[in-house]
Amino acid sequence: MVRKLSIGVIGIQGAVSEHEKILQKTYDATNISGNIIIVNHKEQIKKINGLIIPGGESTTISKILVKLNIYEEILKRIKDNSLPIMGTCAGCILLANNLVENTKDVKLLNAIEMKVKRNAFGRQKESFESIINIEGFHNPYNAVFIRAPIIEKVGGKCKILSKINNKIIMTRQDKYLAMSFHPELTDDIRIHKYFLDMV
Ligand code: GLN
Repeated sequence: MVRKLSIGVIGIQGAVSEHEKILQKTYDATNISGNIIIVNHKEQIKKINGLIIPGGESTTISKILVKLNIYEEILKRIKDNSLPIMGTCAGCILLANNLVENTKDVKLLNAIEMKVKRNAFGRQKESFESIINIEGFHNPYNAVFIRAPIIEKVGGKCKILSKINNKIIMTRQDKYLAMSFHPELTDDIRIHKYFLDMV
């Protein structure tokens, strides 16, 4: 039987349409069939079998997720262990269970045991591209960083999938995948394919 996926993209702010586009491209280029739901209502969280939290501004995304009770609904699915989630950049921050500088403006989802530092690359390097290696990928990957966080520390079952200059930039723990860069801003579908394979 062919399984049809239903993947939600949090549609509050940031690189939403870019994720939608590359997700469609991933469906088209593989034999994975599915639809895309732009999530701006809590009921939608019940209907999806995978979720992407895009890059943007973690404080803004977090505040609105809480206000619309979407945060609450995602927490329920995390508790049930029933929702794979990929978080990119701001989304990576939200998946963490600890921040270097805690702010009450960001309510974490506590999905991955990692401590994240926001805006961790110096001023002149706020945005840059770099060729990185990712665990399990046969060829290097061109990663786009925009005011990116780094993952300072990981614990428990959290696996490190990539580093740049010895700084952790991509992790996975069970159903949760986090990266400090923006896979939706490239034409390379490998990370989205990797996530769909987790769903
Ligand atoms: N610096 C942003 C934050 O702290 C993340 C940047 C991004 O998602 N491109 O939320």
